[in-house]
Amino acid sequence: MTTGDHPMADYIGAIDQGTTSSRFIVFDRSGQIVSVAQKEHTQIFPRPGWVEHDPAEIWRCVTEVIQYAMEARDLKPSDLSGIGITNQRETTVVWNKKTGKAVYNAIVWQDTRVADKVEELIANGGQDRYRAKTGLPLATYFSGLKLRWILDSVPGARMAAEAGDLLFGNIDSFLIWNLTGGVQGGVHLTDVTNASRTQLMDLRTLNWDQDILAEFNIPASVLPKIASSSEVYGRAVLGSIKDVPIAGDLGDQQAALFGQACFQPGEAKNTYGTGSFMLMNTGTKAIASQHGLLTTLGYKIGVQPAVYALEGAIAVTGSLVQWIRDNLGIIENSSDIESLARTVTDNGGIYIVPAFSGLYAPYWKDSARGVIVGLTRYVNKGHIARAVLEATAFQVREVVDAMQQDSGIELANLRTDGGMVVNQLLMQFQSDILNKPVVRPMVQETTALGAAYAAGLATGFWKDQDELVANWAEDQRWNPSMEEEKRASFYHFWKKAVTRSFDWAE
Ligand code: ADP
Repeated sequence: MTTGDHPMADYIGAIDQGTTSSRFIVFDRSGQIVSVAQKEHTQIFPRPGWVEHDPAEIWRCVTEVIQYAMEARDLKPSDLSGIGITNQRETTVVWNKKTGKAVYNAIVWQDTRVADKVEELIANGGQDRYRAKTGLPLATYFSGLKLRWILDSVPGARMAAEAGDLLFGNIDSFLIWNLTGGVQGGVHLTDVTNASRTQLMDLRTLNWDQDILAEFNIPASVLPKIASSSEVYGRAVLGSIKDVPIAGDLGDQQAALFGQACFQPGEAKNTYGTGSFMLMNTGTKAIASQHGLLTTLGYKIGVQPAVYALEGAIAVTGSLVQWIRDNLGIIENSSDIESLARTVTDNGGIYIVPAFSGLYAPYWKDSARGVIVGLTRYVNKGHIARAVLEATAFQVREVVDAMQQDSGIELANLRTDGGMVVNQLLMQFQSDILNKPVVRPMVQETTALGAAYAAGLATGFWKDQDELVANWAEDQRWNPSMEEEKRASFYHFWKKAVTRSFDWAE
């Protein structure tokens, strides 16, 4: 690897464009945070099940957080060796390359407007008809059908696309295009991890799949070039970061895998946020899931072979805590859940299955709905708080079981990150239910760190992955201390509770 143009730079930057906010974080060589700025953007809900963001607002937020974080520590562009980007995956933007304006709001990953189209495709060939090529079941979650919806539903969009005027991307592509000049020569590309979430890329060739494009009626001219996750894509034109190489791009969950330095096959991390996402590095082999997981790209460093991952996506974990806070008012702050749960010694026999919008991994059942089972006159709000936290741990156990079965690899321990990992009761229960140690790293901003790592490898800021592994340090570890009989009984009742959520919606 060659050293970038900023050989004296002490830092590296990361743009973390998430579902609720955008952040810019500056890291030093040891992975410590030097400066950070964050800004939320508007969530737009035009109809039930529809979720949108305004791409222009997101771009404004990104430019502002970059400027704030740079100014806060008096940083100059030459202090940065490079910038990496990580983003909310699957969220779909289509914009005009002559004006830079989006033709429609960004359609967010949670948006379910393409449900009818999904049903139609499932009726003609099953939910797994694209799994062999793309690693993904048919679901409303991925970008391909969202892109198609925009082309079909926005007046004039398809004609403009066919005239070669429109560009499509996940948020990463939209940001990279704008950062590198926009209408004045911005580069239009994405990385393999983001491309793997469109359901339009062949996992093995890493190219757009012509057959799927034809079936989805998507003109190839709108698609970005597929690049690696770590290379210099172009240079920033913004004043506060002028000429800094844009050199890393990873979807948020893949960035967390990278930031946790899970570089060996069999290493896995679980991010506990609104939902939870476990990814396991499976090396240079794409493993087809037989147990309800997604096969996805992990990362690709420059010209090195792509690394694949198995992913268990769980829709509702932290948002169940928000639900009992906001909808039931049982607690005031998310963090109060722990003290309330500690007022009792167990769940009092109740289980909560938070299938609010169906169940994702490992079930993929759209028609499941949430249930609370096992209620007796004995149960109080302490038991409910406990069952809320346990629901996260049980769902993660199901994904770990699926992961081990699919990969044939026994996890030694589980690396964790995300907003819920401050919860000691949850982490201990997770370790008990998995019967494995659970470990939390010192630097918990793993998503942004992963993007910074990808950029820093490309510019020579870090020599190799061994340096990144050396940066990883353990903060806290929880060891299992539950008797086997108890663990088996809890899990048995959890599994039974899950079956009670099936086939509710009609
Ligand atoms: P995201 O990146 O998905 O927005 P975060 O990683 O910031 O999410 O995590 C936020 C989630 O963590 C929220 O759903 C919140 O309810 C939950 N959370 C925050 N603090 C706690 C806590 N002490 N115990 C349990 N859950 C928590």
